Amino acid sequence: MSATIRHSALDKLDLCPCFESNPVSGPAAERGTRMDLAFRGLLMGERQPFLALSDEEQDSVMWAVQTAKDVACYHEIISDEALLKVVTPHLSHVGTEDARVEALCLSLDLKSGQPRSYHKQQAAYALGNMARTFTDTWECVLLFCDQQEVVHYRYTYEEAEQWVKGIVDSANDPNKQPCANEYCAWCVKKDRCQQVVEPVVQTLAAVESEVSLAEVRQNVLADPTRLAKVMKAASIFEKEFLKPLKDAAKQLLLDGGSLPGWKLQHQTGSEYFDRIAIVSAAVAGKSGLDDLVTAMGGDMGGKAYREWHEKMRLPVQEQHAQRKGDIVKLVEDKKARALK
Ligand code: SF4
Repeated sequence: MSATIRHSALDKLDLCPCFESNPVSGPAAERGTRMDLAFRGLLMGERQPFLALSDEEQDSVMWAVQTAKDVACYHEIISDEALLKVVTPHLSHVGTEDARVEALCLSLDLKSGQPRSYHKQQAAYALGNMARTFTDTWECVLLFCDQQEVVHYRYTYEEAEQWVKGIVDSANDPNKQPCANEYCAWCVKKDRCQQVVEPVVQTLAAVESEVSLAEVRQNVLADPTRLAKVMKAASIFEKEFLKPLKDAAKQLLLDGGSLPGWKLQHQTGSEYFDRIAIVSAAVAGKSGLDDLVTAMGGDMGGKAYREWHEKMRLPVQEQHAQRKGDIVKLVEDKKARALK
């Protein structure tokens, strides 16, 4: 039993058993907390936290509330924080869900910001709920309100327990080793962790060395293992060293300071017209549907098209689906531990 592991840390601990959350919450986390409050408040008929949000945040939360009601299918949605505590086997921390539909064995979680995997965090909520209700399966529905996307995770008791116990065991292993990953920026240890510091130091040393860059490139390219390590080191250098420096330098100039050889460049935001402007113009100009769609670029993303059909309760005519050319991207294999 761990005294400190929170439900929200499980996805990060799954990638690095040494991860430790930064206790100081940033602006993104604070925004998330305000939106959670507004979401739960609206579900209980309390509008004050919702009214304190910006227009854009209100749109996102309103979408989440409507989607939660759609998912609940007229069943009661519990959104009183006092009733949403979750005690999970293997964790001593008591989690708090955003909302729950007991009748459907289902939890709802509002997520703001970039979509990420919350699979292990939700496994912990599912496990706690299954243990409490003596059920074998539980569903967790994530409402990514900024993107208006819904993700469903479904767990059996065994599966959820395996995830939670496995992660807790590795985090409590006295021989655990750090493994750099996408969450290093959120880890309180990042400024002294060898997985982050070493690549930065090595990259700086390579740049400052006397050897020609062409020679360094050639040597690196000749050895795929070294190439993989250099790419990982460079991405840590970029994310954990260069980006924070750039952000600080920009702020310095914004605050009126000077930075020899650097200046701020202002770019005018791109012009756009919202839904009301488009519909008003279409009505005023008696535009046909075909003209309107052509003016908007002619096609619609598959996801938006399918969601639109779902709202209209119309089956998608699959023979009309088309696919653009595949894109091949180079991404890090986060599960591979070979580069530790
Ligand atoms: S900074 Fe180190 S300890 Fe923290 S998540 Fe990254 S690799 Fe793990």
